[in-house]
Amino acid sequence: MTKYILVAGGAGYIGSHAVRKLKLEGYTPVVFDNLSTGHIQSVEEEIFFEGDVRNESDLDLVFSSYKIDAVMHFCANSLVGESMEKPELYFDNNVMGGLQLLKSMLKHNVKYIIFSSTCATYGEPEIVPITEKEKQLPTNPYGESKLMFEKMLKWFDICHGFKSVCLRYFNASGADDEGVIGEDHNPESHLIPIVFQVANGQRDYISVFGADYPTPDGTCVRDYIHVYDLAKAHILALKYLFAGNDSDAFNLGSGDGYSVHEIIANVEKQVGHPIGKKMTDRRAGDPAVLIGSSEKIREKLGWEPSYNLENIIKTANKWHSTNPDGYV
Ligand code: UDP
Repeated sequence: MTKYILVAGGAGYIGSHAVRKLKLEGYTPVVFDNLSTGHIQSVEEEIFFEGDVRNESDLDLVFSSYKIDAVMHFCANSLVGESMEKPELYFDNNVMGGLQLLKSMLKHNVKYIIFSSTCATYGEPEIVPITEKEKQLPTNPYGESKLMFEKMLKWFDICHGFKSVCLRYFNASGADDEGVIGEDHNPESHLIPIVFQVANGQRDYISVFGADYPTPDGTCVRDYIHVYDLAKAHILALKYLFAGNDSDAFNLGSGDGYSVHEIIANVEKQVGHPIGKKMTDRRAGDPAVLIGSSEKIREKLGWEPSYNLENIIKTANKWHSTNPDGYV
């Protein structure tokens, strides 16, 4: 019998790719999204509820309509820079909304949850690549809000027997291979989509946020991971919980780091022309280097990435060149 998976935030960038993957694996996704940043166009023929995780009655409707077996929790505000300007938004949606979701799960007796956590919970790591043993000391409210939810999950396990997997994402990137769904934020603030906006003539240049970091070329280094490799990890995590395993947290990175200049150079190579760039000040809250060790998830869940940087940029190129205005 099919299992019903509530995908909270299932119309968003990562959630919509997870929904596709769930369907391919024989699960029935139940998509829940307030469409504040998600796109109704990314919701295909699946079950859909428009609602907000901060609203108990919205959640009651979903949980009483379907016998949900597990929850994947993607809904969140997720911009480091914005979180430094509006921390209240992050604590409201990511912490209060998360708590409401847990309370509703408790009320409706659903005890499995996969959580979209982040490498931003580590702050400025002491050792790179970062392992799960690294201290979690966030340098921005976004990371702090995600860490607070991780802590809630720990106590919901101890006190209520909730079983959870926290997946600490590094930089989600790329798009569906066919270019059907992809990355579209409004306003756009992520590196790869902005580089493509410059490549497609929609912007004159990309602002490189800081060229004075202690890195080989002075720009920030990040670990880019394809959105379907993330989705694949969610399926493995789901199976791991359904098999009766204990709650755990895993990094989800490739183990390779690329600087802002290297990303721009890679896009230039694939589109075949130079991309305008300007050096600007650092963006508040940005650590210099974030690279994740994925040893633990490889060993315990048997996960491995299928996409390297070339393929990530290739799928992003397909999405942005066929959908230059995103979802319209
Ligand atoms: N970045 C940049 N210019 C931009 C957007 C991002 O230089 O217009 C840099 C940013 O400082 C970070 C990296 O690109 O070092 C990735 O940023 P993004 O916002 O894509 O993801 P984040 O690391 O914040 O999750």
